Amino acid sequence: MAKATSWSKPVTKALRAEGVRVRDIDTAATPGFKGDKKAGEALLADRAEVLSDLQEKLYANGRSGDTRSVLLVLQGMDTAGKGGIVRHVIGSVDPQGVDHAAFGVPTAEERKHHYLWRIRKKLPRGGQIGVFDRSHYEDVLVVRVHDLVAPDVWGKRYDEINKFERKLVDDGTTILKVAMFVSLDEQKKRLQQRLDRPDKYWKFNPGDIDERAFWPQYQEAYQAVLDRTDTEYAPWYVLPCDHKWYARLAVTELLIDALQSIKLDWPPADFDIDEQKKRLAKA
Ligand code: ADP
Repeated sequence: MAKATSWSKPVTKALRAEGVRVRDIDTAATPGFKGDKKAGEALLADRAEVLSDLQEKLYANGRSGDTRSVLLVLQGMDTAGKGGIVRHVIGSVDPQGVDHAAFGVPTAEERKHHYLWRIRKKLPRGGQIGVFDRSHYEDVLVVRVHDLVAPDVWGKRYDEINKFERKLVDDGTTILKVAMFVSLDEQKKRLQQRLDRPDKYWKFNPGDIDERAFWPQYQEAYQAVLDRTDTEYAPWYVLPCDHKWYARLAVTELLIDALQSIKLDWPPADFDIDEQKKRLAKA
């Protein structure tokens, strides 16, 4: 059976965004992992259990009034596999402990407000793992690429986002941000599948084909995100996603690391254990 030692270095180091050039990312790489797909899948089965136990501890503490939480931000190119991460990684933990939110094109109501308004409403409560499928980063990605607001408006957002995240961390949220990349060839294959397979039609959006032409502009926008919003308190991880098994394993490990860094114990009993045992024996 594969062991955690299949990693040649901790995933937090292998994927850290610091110094990454977006145009040079090898999307087929499996940074830090020595094994193949089979080893990766076997390890994932083990590690999903570890994640699930840690999540239960976070949840249990939340039930006892602990306000700490975890926020996983998933940003990525179309077809990079955000949905797969949610199903396969987040799907391995108790759904009661997950606050999931997907952010699409803002609604008329959302457009009336500051771009962080809809984000604030979906922040994880104490004891929860929040998962953002897209996020406030759309407001410096698609918005920047398509000139949806003027440059001096989106230009101010990087600092604003840093401040926003700083406050969240100070208030007890552990943030990890994952930028997911596939090659344009792999993206084409995945879009082709969505056109070939009836079980995938629902995922197909004709606009995704148009977005391919904007990849250089997206690369630039992602580079600015990594350069300006990768902070020690809310780090970005750059995830190569051509291999889905690797992406899922890596995010599992990142979440395990985040939860372990919180150093959780089981909440103490708020009742007299001996007394309750005696009562139960007689009941
Ligand atoms: P998905 O493509 O992830 O399945 P949706 O189709 O519901 O999800 O919505 C995603 C689309 O919404 C993407 O094209 C994304 O760029 C867009 N989007 C998300 N946030 C914003 C935003 N703040 N402004 C404009 N477009 C946005």
